[in-house]
Amino acid sequence: MSKTIFEKIIAREIPAQIVYEDELVCAFRDVNPQAPTHVLIVPKQPIPRIGEAQPADEKTIGHLLLKAAEVAAQLGLQQTGYRLVFNHGRDAGESVPHLHCHILGGRKMAWPPG
Ligand code: AMP
Repeated sequence: MSKTIFEKIIAREIPAQIVYEDELVCAFRDVNPQAPTHVLIVPKQPIPRIGEAQPADEKTIGHLLLKAAEVAAQLGLQQTGYRLVFNHGRDAGESVPHLHCHILGGRKMAWPPG
């Protein structure tokens, strides 16, 4: 299997602005930001998408969510708020087959999402 673009970022094969990393997850700024703050947090183990996560991924995904909140706070979004988004599949607009959580903030969000 060829590496996903996010595996290449984790391996430092392509550049990214990494804002947080530990043994399980990596967070970096989205190259095409949709909000003043737009960071992706991904598991280092390449789960394709949330709907294909397995029971064995529970620890990783739980960790990823807790770290998403920590990264959002680190980026100054704790008081104003932020949105966490997982896109699964075509209708949601998923474009990279490596599970990722969007952390979006720094502006007022619309609801429902488009
Ligand atoms: P999704 O549409 O949910 O699959 O989101 C994929 C996201 O990855 C998009 O917001 C892209 O802008 C972002 N993206 C793609 N390539 C890169 C890259 N090399 N560095 C940072 N973000 C990327």
